[in-house]
Amino acid sequence: MPEGSAPVQDLPFPEVLGVGAEWDVAVCDIVRAGQRLDRHGWVPATAGNLSHRLRDGRIAITRSGCHKGFLTGDEVIAVDAGGAVVQGEGRPSAETLLHTQIYAKFPEAAAVLHGHSVASTVLSLALREDALVFSGFELLKVFEGQHTHDTTLRLPLVDNDQDIARLCTVVEPLLPAMSMGYVIRGHGVYVWGNSMDVALARLEGLEFLLACKLEQRRIPA
Ligand SMILES: [Zn+2]
Repeated sequence: MPEGSAPVQDLPFPEVLGVGAEWDVAVCDIVRAGQRLDRHGWVPATAGNLSHRLRDGRIAITRSGCHKGFLTGDEVIAVDAGGAVVQGEGRPSAETLLHTQIYAKFPEAAAVLHGHSVASTVLSLALREDALVFSGFELLKVFEGQHTHDTTLRLPLVDNDQDIARLCTVVEPLLPAMSMGYVIRGHGVYVWGNSMDVALARLEGLEFLLACKLEQRRIPA
């Protein structure tokens, strides 16, 4: 289970922004990111969820059951570090604890994105391994600390579970070594970053690499 996190100091909100303006920026970032994920087909139906942490520790997150390509401002609500609603109407995403877990583990994390792409779903169901391994791809450089294609990164695959608290206990020990995010088998990806732009870049990078893996399986070695 996620632990409470200390207030975050270095999130990408200009110091001059008041609390209300900071909230507005977070909501705008989430709405734009939802539209971008939708254009790629990574959040079909009402799938996926997106969040953004504010400097006061509140987490702006998409409400349960809404389409991420057509988000309105009132479909973004706020939860605390434990996942309890502190602002807005309705239930937060069913997978809120997977977001708060990431924020608790990584004090610099400011945005978390979760989508249900075809590539992540098909590949993770086809493979029995506990991770996908990527080597030699130029786009590996999108992940933190990577400066060359000549590297190898592991993307953990964890089994799906409708009990999100239990799923958190499976993910927890894997988090410190995660450089790409992770995939829930037959379900989708989780990525994060120290801004919404960084999180989006990593999601796009990861989905590109997953699509490459899927294509490679169609081509005889
Ligand atoms: Zn999901």
